[in-house]
Amino acid sequence: MKGGKLIVFSAPSGSGKTTIVQHLLKQKDLNLAFSVSCTSREARGDEKHGENYYFISLRDFKQHIKNDDFLEWEEVYRDNFYGTLKSEVERIWSQGKNVIFDIDVAGGLRIKKKFPDKTLAVFVKPPSIDELKIRLKKRKTESDERINMRIAKASVELATAPQFDKIIKNYDLEIALQEAHDLVADFINK
Ligand code: 5GP
Repeated sequence: MKGGKLIVFSAPSGSGKTTIVQHLLKQKDLNLAFSVSCTSREARGDEKHGENYYFISLRDFKQHIKNDDFLEWEEVYRDNFYGTLKSEVERIWSQGKNVIFDIDVAGGLRIKKKFPDKTLAVFVKPPSIDELKIRLKKRKTESDERINMRIAKASVELATAPQFDKIIKNYDLEIALQEAHDLVADFINK
């Protein structure tokens, strides 16, 4: 595979990484396209197939694993698989664009390891675990059980932050957005 750069944003869910990624996608100077992942989980709210995710069955997901179609994949939560298809990155590179990923910590580090020079791996840090809980509850898209599952995972994920190239503290969204833009612009123009 050759082509543009890879920009990875990883963080515990509720940290605001999706907001940051969506903001960066609107910045024309960065020439980014979103890597649409496959997932075996159900669509939430107004999520769309092919836009937020490729929503596929667990069976199809496992077939892709067998076929070695994924650049990386993870069982992020029990029976909820997520993965990046190699073909997705190739599709974006063939359009002459840089790829931006909104993926979990393990997947993000795996991409960095596969493409060390082409990848900027950014970790988005939430103010605290308590704040994370408040944000996830505000979203009102999931049960308490699933929220607790995400919180438990968040503590483990926070410990991996030092392995990333850069850490953005998302305490003030406006500042985090500006910082994210500047980091990505610097890396792309390098
Ligand atoms: P959610 O269910 O909230 O959309 O995503 C759960 C977690 O899975 C998030 O941290 C999200 O970034 C991560 N994720 C989404 N797509 C991928 C992927 O392709 N690979 C990996 N490893 N994680 C992903």
